[in-house]
Amino acid sequence: MDTFNIRTNCIICNNVLNDTFFTKDLSIPISCYCNESKDSDNIFIPYNVLTCSNCKTTQTKYLGNLDIIYKFNHADSTGSIMKNLHKYACNILGKYIDNITNITEIGSAKGILSSLVLQEYKKISKYYIIEPQFIGDIIEKQIIINNFFENVNLEEYSDSNTIIISHVMEHFYNPIDILKKIKENTNIEYFLLIWPDLEHYKDNNIYHVLNTEHTFYIDNNFIKLLFNNFSFEMLEQIKYENHSVIYLFKRNNNLKYQKLINENYSINSYFNNLLSRKQDIIDFIKYNKKNNKQICIWPASVHTQFLLMITEIKDIEFVLDNSPNKIGKYLYGYNLECKSFENNYNNMMNAIILNGGCFNKEVIDKINLNKEQILII
Ligand SMILES: [Zn+2]
Repeated sequence: MDTFNIRTNCIICNNVLNDTFFTKDLSIPISCYCNESKDSDNIFIPYNVLTCSNCKTTQTKYLGNLDIIYKFNHADSTGSIMKNLHKYACNILGKYIDNITNITEIGSAKGILSSLVLQEYKKISKYYIIEPQFIGDIIEKQIIINNFFENVNLEEYSDSNTIIISHVMEHFYNPIDILKKIKENTNIEYFLLIWPDLEHYKDNNIYHVLNTEHTFYIDNNFIKLLFNNFSFEMLEQIKYENHSVIYLFKRNNNLKYQKLINENYSINSYFNNLLSRKQDIIDFIKYNKKNNKQICIWPASVHTQFLLMITEIKDIEFVLDNSPNKIGKYLYGYNLECKSFENNYNNMMNAIILNGGCFNKEVIDKINLNKEQILII
């Protein structure tokens, strides 16, 4: 089994890709979950990024084998940001609920948004979830279609007029094929997209833009243009907590084709900024080690894997997280033990790097260490 393929053409416009950002490939752990034991087999694949000279979409050069990447579900957010995001999206849907018949959601491991929507809007009688690895509890009116969207015949959900995709679009290797398939299904009138605010992450140097799961970067406005070209007109674009952008589209078959270009891609300066912050992290570690502190980083997530991959820093001792599903396990690729955040955040022997992007604010007020012992990334 090959662990990766090489991308040669742009994910959006199919233009041939040429210039890699890094002169020498880096190496990235293929999966983002935590291992049960310390010495599990960890697969690394090469890492580099390419920007399309035509549409300015930046994308990873090496595409990991999907069966390995998604072997275990790791999305396990315990804080309030994700919970409130679902409520927020559910409310936006409420503005259009009179015109919504049934709903089809593409990709949803636990069906959290679906349960909220069904609870809130009794008029919805069927909520299809197309998901090959559903692990939630199935409730009344939920219909699980156990497959990848690409393989599902539209007859299976022909009585629904609304598509929802939440934190899944950015994972597709062929988003254009997905949009084509939705455009061709003329039953679909509404389309709710929840997208990670990659533009905010990029502009704020958060270590979480392009990895083995999120393999392309497009600006928030580019999504509007792209959907326009697949006959969906944007009615709402709402930024949520610097974490996500929620879009609501309605079918309009009379839209004029728009030229696709990322106006704010600036991904090269993003990567340069990440590299230039490396020295701050090294100085922080050096200072605290001299004072006999143990160096740890929060959280046990893709953010931290990405930071370790880009900076190649090796002297972090353990990872902190709030998720009971991660504590006691080991971060894939780096063999760092994940310890409980609750038991460690006020331990005077620790020096903590906070690397959770918009999630930092969920934990920062709890920490009472000296300010030299905290580094906020
Ligand atoms: Zn392109």
